[in-house]
Amino acid sequence: MFPAAFDYEAPSTLTEALSILKQRGDDAKVMAGGQSLIPLLKLRFAQPQLIVDIARIPGLADIKRDDGHVRIGALARHVDIERSRELAKLLPLMVEAVHWIADPLVRNRGTLVGSVCHADPSGDWGSIMLALNAELVAQSNKGERVIPIDGFFQGPFTTTLRPDEIVTAIRIPVPSGSAGGSYHKLERRVGDFATVAVSVQVELDGRKVKKAGIGLTSVGATNLKAKQAEQALIGHELNDQVIAEAAKLAADAAEPKDDIRGSAAYKKDVVRVFVQRGLKAALARAQEVRA
Ligand SMILES: Cc1cc2nc3c(=O)[nH]c(=O)nc-3n(C[C@H](O)[C@H](O)[C@H](O)COP(=O)(O)OP(=O)(O)OC[C@H]3O[C@@H](n4cnc5c(N)ncnc54)[C@H](O)[C@@H]3O)c2cc1C
Repeated sequence: MFPAAFDYEAPSTLTEALSILKQRGDDAKVMAGGQSLIPLLKLRFAQPQLIVDIARIPGLADIKRDDGHVRIGALARHVDIERSRELAKLLPLMVEAVHWIADPLVRNRGTLVGSVCHADPSGDWGSIMLALNAELVAQSNKGERVIPIDGFFQGPFTTTLRPDEIVTAIRIPVPSGSAGGSYHKLERRVGDFATVAVSVQVELDGRKVKKAGIGLTSVGATNLKAKQAEQALIGHELNDQVIAEAAKLAADAAEPKDDIRGSAAYKKDVVRVFVQRGLKAALARAQEVRA
């Protein structure tokens, strides 16, 4: 299928891009890698009058440590995450998870920020960002604002981002001390979107959990943060009983629907099993870091 006609701008500075959005934001769509937007245009699910292609704006592709965070620029692609030594050292969960996303063609063009802004409840990065307590840095003509990921997703393909804003980066807190994470994904075939996926990150203080993050993919209208399950871990050692209780709470937080990929009850049970496996894997990695 062919997209409906649209105007196209490829500004070479962020200031220029923001001024275009100030004037025409309501009719425009920002494009980064185009890996979600172009299929939507072709299917005519989106028919913006203007595409603002930000791919030529310099300085937006870096992945770097920045004051207690890792800052991942809006044009850092999935493949850049895959190859990042900084992330392999500081947030290995991301480097492990990136292999679950699509295929090498999509990973060569698509971006983390584009994925999160797209807000597909089946997108993998959204739940990983929820587990890692990321925040988005959004820029408009009025200035910069920092948006916590928790609350960013409003519904399927809907976020709190305003039409005049561009997300310039995602910032993720660098764990202090022993930390580990894991991503478990059930897919029908390699490269597919998740039937169910679960992201887990824990940070330990001695043997007890200091911080915990659990994000759920494809089991609700948005990526979900399993907050009660996270709370059930804080201050406890990760023994079988604590892990089983958190896994049950995460399954309770999931809101899947019956579809051709499985029943809602089945998907909830996959969440439970993946949280158990994920926490055990995360604990083992956190202990490796300490050793
Ligand atoms: C065949 C195929 C398989 C896929 N499989 C998976 C999968 O298994 N798992 C998965 O998670 N994803 C999958 N995807 C989706 C894909 O990984 C991401 O959604 C995509 O990479 C998004 O990044 P992008 O840079 O291409 O965004 P674009 O397509 O350019 O934009 C996506 C949306 O985000 C907005 N946007 C982008 N950047 C910004 C910004 N800086 N500021 C504000 N708004 C912005 C755009 O306006 C648009 O609404 C698949 C895609 C394809 C085509």
